Amino acid sequence: MPYVITEGCVDIMDKSCMEQCPADCIYEGGRMLYINPDECIDCGACEPACPQEAVFHIDLVPEELSDYTAANETFFVEASVRDGGRAAGKINHDAAIVSVLPMRVK
Ligand code: SF4
Ligand code: SF4
Repeated sequence: MPYVITEGCVDIMDKSCMEQCPADCIYEGGRMLYINPDECIDCGACEPACPQEAVFHIDLVPEELSDYTAANETFFVEASVRDGGRAAGKINHDAAIVSVLPMRVK
């Protein structure tokens, strides 16, 4: 079962999680990063690396952030990207629940 990135990443995107991921399954969208559920090997390395505490195991996503489980899945259906987040670079697409959020001032 994969890990999930949630709202705390929106407009932060410091990529600390990406640097730790041995499966290269974290991809950079327009306003947040997304974990490909088909590529994640469930190692857990990304969770403690996140300064925003935005990463959760899929079974432990807080109720108020539960829409992000589907958001991480649909991102890869809509953006049609796979085979490595580092090579993919920035993808100018976001899940709908992310696109409608007000811009966060860092
Ligand atoms: S759990 Fe491991 S494989 Fe999955 S996204 Fe996090 S670092 Fe990558
Ligand atoms: S470490 Fe957290 S805030 Fe930084 S890019 Fe990854 S999920 Fe987003």
